[in-house]
Amino acid sequence: MAPAEEEEEVTPGPLLCRVERCGAVDQKRMASENRPGSSLPNKRWSVRVRRSNSSARELHLSAFYAGSPQVPRQRQPDAELEVQQKCGFSELYSWQRERKVKTEFCLHDGPPYANGDPHVGHALNKILKDIANRFHMMRGSKIHFVPGWDCHGLPIEIKVLSELGGKAQSLSAMEIREKARTFAKAAIEKQKSAFIRWGIMADWNNCYYTFDGKYEARQLRIFYQMYDKGLVYRSYKPVFWSPSSRTALAEAELEYNPEHTSRSVYMKFPLRAPSPKLASLLDGATPVSVLVWTTQPWTVPANQAVCYAPQSRYAVVKCSTSGDRYIVAADKGPSLASALDTTFEVISTFSGEDLEGGACSHPLVPGKVSPLLPATHVTVAKGTGLVHTAPAHGMEDYGVAAQHSLPVDCSVDEGGLFTAAAGPELESKAVLEEGTDEVIKMLQSVKSLLKEETLIHSYPYDWRAKKPVIVRASKQWFVKISDIKPAAQEALKAVKFIPGAALNAMTDVLERRPYWCISRQRAWGVPIPVFHHRARDECLINSQTVEHVAKLVEQHGSDVWWTLPPEQLLPKEVLSQVSGPDGLEYLPGQDILDIWFDSGTSWSCVIPGADQRADLYLEGKDQLGGWFQSSLLTSVATRGKAPFKTVMVHGFTLGERGEKMSKSLGNALDPDVVINGGQDQSAEPPYGVDVLRWWVAASNVFTEVTLGPCVLSAARDDINKLRNTLRFLLGNVAGFAPDTDSVPVDRMHVIDQYMLHLLQGLASKVTDAYKQYDFGKVVRLLQAFYTRELSGFYFSIIKDRLYCEKEDDPKRRSCQMALAQILDVLVRAFAPILPHLAEEVFQHLPYGSEPESVFRTGWIGTSSVWKKPGLEEAVEGACAMRDSFLGSIPGRNAAEYEVAIVVEPGLLFEIMEMLQAEETSSTSQLSELMMASRCTLLAQEPRQRPAGTTELAGTFLINLEGGDIREESSYKVLVTPATQEKCPRCWKYTAESPDTLCPRCAEVVGGV
Ligand SMILES: [Zn+2]
Repeated sequence: MAPAEEEEEVTPGPLLCRVERCGAVDQKRMASENRPGSSLPNKRWSVRVRRSNSSARELHLSAFYAGSPQVPRQRQPDAELEVQQKCGFSELYSWQRERKVKTEFCLHDGPPYANGDPHVGHALNKILKDIANRFHMMRGSKIHFVPGWDCHGLPIEIKVLSELGGKAQSLSAMEIREKARTFAKAAIEKQKSAFIRWGIMADWNNCYYTFDGKYEARQLRIFYQMYDKGLVYRSYKPVFWSPSSRTALAEAELEYNPEHTSRSVYMKFPLRAPSPKLASLLDGATPVSVLVWTTQPWTVPANQAVCYAPQSRYAVVKCSTSGDRYIVAADKGPSLASALDTTFEVISTFSGEDLEGGACSHPLVPGKVSPLLPATHVTVAKGTGLVHTAPAHGMEDYGVAAQHSLPVDCSVDEGGLFTAAAGPELESKAVLEEGTDEVIKMLQSVKSLLKEETLIHSYPYDWRAKKPVIVRASKQWFVKISDIKPAAQEALKAVKFIPGAALNAMTDVLERRPYWCISRQRAWGVPIPVFHHRARDECLINSQTVEHVAKLVEQHGSDVWWTLPPEQLLPKEVLSQVSGPDGLEYLPGQDILDIWFDSGTSWSCVIPGADQRADLYLEGKDQLGGWFQSSLLTSVATRGKAPFKTVMVHGFTLGERGEKMSKSLGNALDPDVVINGGQDQSAEPPYGVDVLRWWVAASNVFTEVTLGPCVLSAARDDINKLRNTLRFLLGNVAGFAPDTDSVPVDRMHVIDQYMLHLLQGLASKVTDAYKQYDFGKVVRLLQAFYTRELSGFYFSIIKDRLYCEKEDDPKRRSCQMALAQILDVLVRAFAPILPHLAEEVFQHLPYGSEPESVFRTGWIGTSSVWKKPGLEEAVEGACAMRDSFLGSIPGRNAAEYEVAIVVEPGLLFEIMEMLQAEETSSTSQLSELMMASRCTLLAQEPRQRPAGTTELAGTFLINLEGGDIREESSYKVLVTPATQEKCPRCWKYTAESPDTLCPRCAEVVGGV
């Protein structure tokens, strides 16, 4: 036992930070230890709750629960693993599935990519989902949460191939598939065990994988349903093409590099035949050229037209340097002249419409005509207002070609090299490199080039290869988004988006994309179940062929497409029709489906029930153009509704300075290091997963979320403050048996009832915030409550009652009742966020029989409203007086004073009488709130005031029954230094002499 006044002992006890000394409590120490913002070492809970032995009882306070400092400190991560085991984390999912409850909550897991190690982006996503699930489960819903993985695709294939180096070239499709599958499985196992370690409650034994035969078969059937409705078609079109990966890419597989350098050129297309209107403006003798600007000179050989904006003004200008005449957008004249280091003289201006019927000569292909055509996508904002159009290499150019029946010839191969069709100078040259160089030289030699510049601009890159892509026409399979769009937009009206603005982003993407290219020229994926004619450009696909393939895939997996002889891939009835004299006329196609099509059909395989609509999809904002989109399109296309009721979108994780976090940049935080600590544990301490979970909950996840050492250490400090609050609560409810020790609510202290009233408010606000998935708000509400209302207010005034009154005094029991309620509400309120801490506290509740998991005991109970008229007014009125009193004695101990409160007879006086019936008291509720040694309540000013009295005055507005009763009353607080001596036990100035106990303490210690 520590000697009195020894301030050096700084190690707080694990439970309640109190040091006992010969019957006195070091209240100063307690005050400082419970001060908001103070951070204590992270001690484990004491498991031993000791009581003082009865012989020493006289001089001891009744409630002290010092833990043993000898309990070895357990590492946070180890303690969490113990909690997971002891409290049955792994059985919780199946337990809750077996409950007989009416409501089900389905959160459909967006499958992470089966590639690479678990990272903080996974943690952010999975923890958010877990918080939502645990909340709904505690509220009584049966949770359906089946985690999944996206297992196919280029990123895995490329990784596998790059590991093989030179050998990769000679591998067959099946060899690649085998290696890719092994790779994906290893990544899945690694990620899965991390997710389980994070405390994610899920159906871990029945996860879904996009490489499962059953999954693949469902996907093939959806493909056919869409094909059958005419929503999937094959066409020769320009698509984003990755020369480095030799495949088509979808927009979701692109990354834009804002620092990309292009070689842009100004060039002239000689006007070959002016339109009739234009001819009248020209003298016919001087040659005129159309001025064109492009950032992709390599596409000039494929030029088929020059487009203009029919509604804009154009001008014929004369160049002062060369004397040449050009046609340019009228507004662009001066800026173009300055870009070309010259000046232009405007000869005449005319409307874009006047260009109709004109034509230019192709600068590089002798004799070839490039017609002048109107197009809606042309603006005069950039370039010259006249747009070089190469239908094989631009989506908008393709649109013009379709409208005007222009050829869409592509002379660029899969590897991004010019083909022989481009001519001997260009053949086999890479279009983005020496091909560009050669084209520029050719333009120069025909005197078409006016200027070359380097341009730094945002340009699409292959998301995995990190190399620039090109636009290239090829034969691909497409989903006709334009046909699905109206129904998809309609379906979105029934979906709730969190945050609401995410809906706009979703519709924007839908709006922008006329079609979705779903074929890829790779091996690791689900085959497009189509057979191609050996000689003719003809496809074989019908319900029989697809169903036959789907059945095979369902049983054996999609490998059959590569392993079975083609004859076996076709049903007998079809086979007989398509066999020619030289054997089968059709062969299985070599394309596989885009992985966004894979994952986009997950709703059909995973979401339960006839309706197959999930309550919640919750993913990062990149999925607005990815998985949310592909899920919506496949679902609307096949059954006319969205697969989700609510979509929640979160931001990305960034480093502490707001920099992008990625493994390739080397600044990625490894969740395993966060949880278990790094090599140097003083630099990278083992935080445990609750710290990671708190970070997720506390962050504003709707924007970008930053993470780094400071953020983590702040999260740990926050949890420690909460832990200290819980220690205080746990320590002080010890010895309280709710069944026998409860006090009728109306006989509880007003301040205790008031705390229950605040608790009710907190509970309903926290519940609402959870319902909105606003976990940051949950954290803020809880923090405000435990720092302001509890540590900063309630805990500081109740200590005398808790420590100095008799153990079973109703005053003390009233307080314990409130503390027990507060503890119960707090634990449930943060349980979805910090499940380990919640279980730990729950296991240490001093009452109740065998503790079970807090997650098996439901959400915060809604108890009857503990409100009674005047309750808030009494506490708030007294607090107003207390604040003026404490404000007048800055830095002093309130117990060194006595106060007299003078209130004229009226409502405020009656309310104050609720807190103190007798005229003068040192133990009344009013005296407790004032924190003075003694308090006197008077209806009129005393005739005499002791020497040294300070008078404080104020007013208080009573507002009762919703404003029906309003009364402003004035009050005075008379502050006088205490006249009595300090009681050695309770330290109030209420004793007759310094050596004797005050009457209250004498009675308590006397042990009646
Ligand atoms: Zn005392």
